[in-house]
Amino acid sequence: MPSLFEKDIQFLKGVGEKRAKLFQKLGAPTVGDLLRLYPRAYEDWSVHTPVRETVLGEVAVVQGTVLQRPSEQRIRGGKLLYKTRVTDGESDLVLTFFNNRYIPTLLREGETYLFRGKVTGTFLRREMLSPEFVPQAKELAIQPIYPATAGLSSRQIGAAVQNALQLLPEQLNDPLPDKLREQYHLCTLRYALETIHFPKTQEEIATARFRLTFEEFLVLQLGLLRIKSGRKQKNLHPIQEEFPQGFAQLLPFSLTGAQHRAIQEAVHDMAGDSPMNRLVQGDVGSGKTAVAAALCWSVIQNGMQAALMAPTEILATQHYHSLNALLEPAHIACALLTGSVKPGEKKKIYSALADGRIQLVIGTHALLSDQVAFHNLGLVITDEQHRFGVGQRSALAQKGASPHLLVMSATPIPRTLALMVYGDLDVSVLDELPPGRQTIETYLVDSGKRQRAFGYVQKHLDQGRQGYIICPLIEEDDSGLQSVTHYAELVKQAFPQATVGVLHGKMKPREKDRVMESFSRGETQLLLSTTVVEVGVDVPNAVIMVIENAERYGLSQLHQLRGRIGRGQYQSTCILITDAQNQETLKRLKLFRDTSDGFQIAEADLKLRGPGDFFGSRQHGLPQLKIADMTTDMEVLRQAQACAKELTRQNALEQPAYRGLRGEVRRLFAKTGGEGVVL
Ligand code: ADP
Ligand code: MG
Repeated sequence: MPSLFEKDIQFLKGVGEKRAKLFQKLGAPTVGDLLRLYPRAYEDWSVHTPVRETVLGEVAVVQGTVLQRPSEQRIRGGKLLYKTRVTDGESDLVLTFFNNRYIPTLLREGETYLFRGKVTGTFLRREMLSPEFVPQAKELAIQPIYPATAGLSSRQIGAAVQNALQLLPEQLNDPLPDKLREQYHLCTLRYALETIHFPKTQEEIATARFRLTFEEFLVLQLGLLRIKSGRKQKNLHPIQEEFPQGFAQLLPFSLTGAQHRAIQEAVHDMAGDSPMNRLVQGDVGSGKTAVAAALCWSVIQNGMQAALMAPTEILATQHYHSLNALLEPAHIACALLTGSVKPGEKKKIYSALADGRIQLVIGTHALLSDQVAFHNLGLVITDEQHRFGVGQRSALAQKGASPHLLVMSATPIPRTLALMVYGDLDVSVLDELPPGRQTIETYLVDSGKRQRAFGYVQKHLDQGRQGYIICPLIEEDDSGLQSVTHYAELVKQAFPQATVGVLHGKMKPREKDRVMESFSRGETQLLLSTTVVEVGVDVPNAVIMVIENAERYGLSQLHQLRGRIGRGQYQSTCILITDAQNQETLKRLKLFRDTSDGFQIAEADLKLRGPGDFFGSRQHGLPQLKIADMTTDMEVLRQAQACAKELTRQNALEQPAYRGLRGEVRRLFAKTGGEGVVL
């Protein structure tokens, strides 16, 4: 029998088929989901302010006794206006109501009410226009405000929640056992649910919120740890702890201090007792590829194979070319495996991987194919990791016996988010750019300046440089495709002398590669592209970028785009074009214009757009948070993470007391469809 939590929302009184649809839309198809549909804010009637202390222009709750029967006055348009005065015993407040004939009967002289509204008037004479009010006698506290939808008001949601709360069994199973709650000072589930919806004081809200936030983070962290611990904990592929000096000598440049440190940390891991599990974070252009190459070299020198997975064909191909160029002189056999490799060729790669002739394979999701098997896989690297679902992270690793794992993140990720997405990976930060990098000059202009911007681009092309024009004219639908072509025509007219390549998501991988390669080789001067070019592409001769409709992108995405230029010795320029009028949008873009630090941009982006959007529209494989706020709940996250580690260490989820919690973990990751995750 399903528990109350799993029951269809229609089970509730007053919720019929029609309303159930609306609840579904809000993400609450079951009673349990409804109880977890938390208020997004509260209207606080519990604290009232003396009239004298109210602040002009702000909302306040005032307790006042009606001094006179509301007077009625007819004004323009036949409207009725009511006026009265109330007092808190010390000062008066003037109230005005429009067109509500019931005011004289609702507000009785000599009786006391609570009034809530924006305070207007003057310093000497406080007023409220049409405040909400309730009799003082009525026991009132804090009203929950729900994310309402058309046809379903916050009040109606509140009523349904109240119904659901009343149906909760006396003995409500709490996924957090008593011992744990005591240890972390957490209230019970029943108290938390009742209170988060209908609190009496702000302190109560804080108590309930802490418990629910903690639980949410805990469940998430436990799930992530479980994914990780699916791998055996013994290091089956120990390497010599030795800095890959031989590799460093192959490089045409010397490593930065940060690269050196990251390599050393990883080598230390791989020589240790358990397999490496490390995240390398670095700003765009900080040189993650060289770090990856060094580690592949080390593992291969120790007689093992390495695999590198990238999210797109373009990236995989590029990695293949640069790693192959670096490692071939050391007689390391590399192969590229993507969806567009011919079947015959694939077969050869499969067999050479299986018997160990290929030492390093670089590819896309194609690496996850059943036919891929390794002889002795020692190291798995995933690039631009957040593009992959949480589950895919472990899928490639499962092709070997607990290989070392290195994750390279494309964008700097705010610390909170990194903790969330990467569970407890060890982190190396590349906080240093290779020497000689120029800062990129960034301009923000409206479309009236497009011709001038194009003129500027032309000047650079004349000097033998290359450039990008990014337009969001999209990809998926047919009409969008039309417009990309249309825009391409405009660009070709604007640059009649130039060779222009066009790149967008609808193209076949092979066509994309052709366009990209031609640009890489410098045969194409100008690349008109959608954001498919966003990650990782490296063409140092490209020094200018124009981004159309800049307002459409998140800051981190803009940062990625901008990171395609400024990669060589030339001064680079990025021009953002927008006709947006919205002040917030302009503020965001100006912040971007004035900041080059990717970590700072990432923090701002997270604050502005929230975690859900942080990674753009792409799946990052993480469940949506219902209550926790990653910009403000960092401390709770830390505690929950410590708790998750402790529980995992004790193998606590296998104990009967933690059955409920285990269920929550499973449920959460089932919803996200955590592909390949064994929970
Ligand atoms: P990202 O961290 O964005 O992946 P890449 O690995 O693509 O950065 O490196 C960006 C560019 O910097 C490449 O052209 C690479 O050859 C160059 N590079 C990397 N490390 C160094 C270094 N230590 N000194 C000089 N150039 C470097
Ligand atoms: Mg890269």
